[in-house]
Amino acid sequence: MTYQPVPVFVYHSVSADPPSWIAPFTVSPRVFAEQLGLIEDRGLIVVPLRRLVDALRGGPPLPARSAVLTFDDGFADFHATVAPLLAARGLPATLYVTTGALGGASRSPEHGSLLPPAPMLTWRQVRELDACVEIGGHTRTHPQLDALPRRAAREEIEGCKARLEDALGHPVDAFAYPHGYSDRVVRHLVEEAGWTSATAVRYGFSSVADEVLRIARLMVRADTSRGRFLAWAQGTGAPVAPFPEGARTRAWRGYRRLRAGLDHPYAALTPSR
Ligand SMILES: [Zn+2]
Repeated sequence: MTYQPVPVFVYHSVSADPPSWIAPFTVSPRVFAEQLGLIEDRGLIVVPLRRLVDALRGGPPLPARSAVLTFDDGFADFHATVAPLLAARGLPATLYVTTGALGGASRSPEHGSLLPPAPMLTWRQVRELDACVEIGGHTRTHPQLDALPRRAAREEIEGCKARLEDALGHPVDAFAYPHGYSDRVVRHLVEEAGWTSATAVRYGFSSVADEVLRIARLMVRADTSRGRFLAWAQGTGAPVAPFPEGARTRAWRGYRRLRAGLDHPYAALTPSR
């Protein structure tokens, strides 16, 4: 059985002048605006992530041709650039923040993350954004969770949730795996901590038959051509969940675990599935 492909796009930075380490994962504001235009032109309906999660849990069906917008890490340009563009079009989105990377006066004593320096959102801005987008969690320090000892992984997963809920004053229930990496143990820890959904990367479309703790996403990068984005917007050019984990992904996880000290922030995002 084939399911209606649901593109869940994941962006990182949207900037014309990103630090070099994040540049391959950055889309310029002009291209980003063009992509939002394509989404609308192709008749996609951007729904809140929550709608997809509800559908995955047996709730109301999604509108035909639904899409979801997500943003990882918490770069400062989300406040300056992305939020106004979304607001102008009335589009919902989920912003997953790495709590240890956020800046500003109220940052916590355990401040710090594995992400190299970049302009990040402040806690004050995150609280402001909470009124117009969904804020989700992306761990405290952005580790490869499936390569961490269980206790450390739990601490990242639980600590991030507690910190966000404390800062925002309400439950926060959407989680995204740093680098998209998870395994059975990590997904169990995420569920145990009370997160009700979790997004991966997987380079494929989600669907109503996807796994709620491993929602497939399509990563939009600097080298994502207009043609490729258009194909995604039309529901083609990538597999549709549920699809099995590829042999390359499994082999790559084994390699990463052997090299637990692997410290490239994003270089680990290599295999295509
Ligand atoms: Zn990330």
